[in-house]
Amino acid sequence: MALSTCPKCPSHAFEMKEAEPNGSKFKLMFVQCASCGAVVGVTDYFNTSSLLDKIADKLGIRLHG
Ligand SMILES: [Zn+2]
Repeated sequence: MALSTCPKCPSHAFEMKEAEPNGSKFKLMFVQCASCGAVVGVTDYFNTSSLLDKIADKLGIRLHG
């Protein structure tokens, strides 16, 4: 599998950063280059997929086989 690379600098390291963009009512998590800070992705602050996992678990629904 190819190594993820920052589009701006040669770095391969990324980090999550809490962000509240202008005009947004919600906090977001930016996935950004750990070296230069270029934002390469955005995800929701509450990590909806892990939340869904927990809810499904409580309901006795198996999501992963
Ligand atoms: Zn970078």
